[in-house]
Amino acid sequence: MRPPARALPGAGGCRSGDRTLAVRRVKASTRLPRFFLESPRGLGVGELVAIEGPACHQIGRVLRLRSGQRVVLLDGSGGAGEAELVSVGSERALARVLQAAPCAPEPAISVTLLAAVLKGERQDWLVQKAVELGVARVVPLLTERGVATANGAKPERWRRIAREAAEQCERAVVPEVADPVSLKVVSWTGAKALACTEREGRPLPALLADGDRELALLVGPEGGWTEAEHEWLADRGAIDASLGPRILRAETAALAALSTVMSHLSWRLETASR
Ligand code: SAH
Repeated sequence: MRPPARALPGAGGCRSGDRTLAVRRVKASTRLPRFFLESPRGLGVGELVAIEGPACHQIGRVLRLRSGQRVVLLDGSGGAGEAELVSVGSERALARVLQAAPCAPEPAISVTLLAAVLKGERQDWLVQKAVELGVARVVPLLTERGVATANGAKPERWRRIAREAAEQCERAVVPEVADPVSLKVVSWTGAKALACTEREGRPLPALLADGDRELALLVGPEGGWTEAEHEWLADRGAIDASLGPRILRAETAALAALSTVMSHLSWRLETASR
């Protein structure tokens, strides 16, 4: 006869003797959910802060947090406070700030990613990963060979994805996601511009200098830049940059370029300034 089914302990069903899972649980519980405030105001210790909009929805409906539980509140300009929920309503939650909360430092270099809009989820993914890698601003580009039109673009959705990614990776600011703009009218004042171009240009790391504090990275659509676009970019001072001999998909190219810049410049500068 088969033994009767036994209820598993805990929702995750982990055995009490499994030390790996126990350790993971403790670590996970030390990470508090983080939320950017809709109307940011001071996060001084002792202050009672009202939480509305998407953060309130996340707290009450999605995570089902209750009064007494702790969250981290972010004012969007670098301020972060660990707070205890005092009340949770459907439209508004209240939390008392207990102490300052740590955030990841912003990269020492400000990178604007000007990348051709990709189809559907690939664009969502690109925005999310670019935020994790430290992008300062994303400008979705409309290009001749691109699949996207201004009407089909979803900048509000991409902004929400950027905010959630910033919360998840512990950034203290939400990178801006601009409305889509045609390559023909886009500008990138003051910054060095590198146009990622397959089969052309010098390796991207060779084009980076220690003094760079602002950089524009341009990435084309799946079909690549047209000849006219490529010329236009060169006329505007953009330098061709190579990411190696293989032809990368557009999202791979954007993220490879961004991580190369961050690892070559930002980490080094951050370490140096400590
Ligand atoms: N259809 C093109 C490839 C376009 S890849 C072809 O087959 O030739 C999409 C975009 O990714 C390009 O416009 C470019 O910006 C970037 N890219 C892809 N591979 C690259 C590489 N090896 N170096 C630099 N940029 C690259």
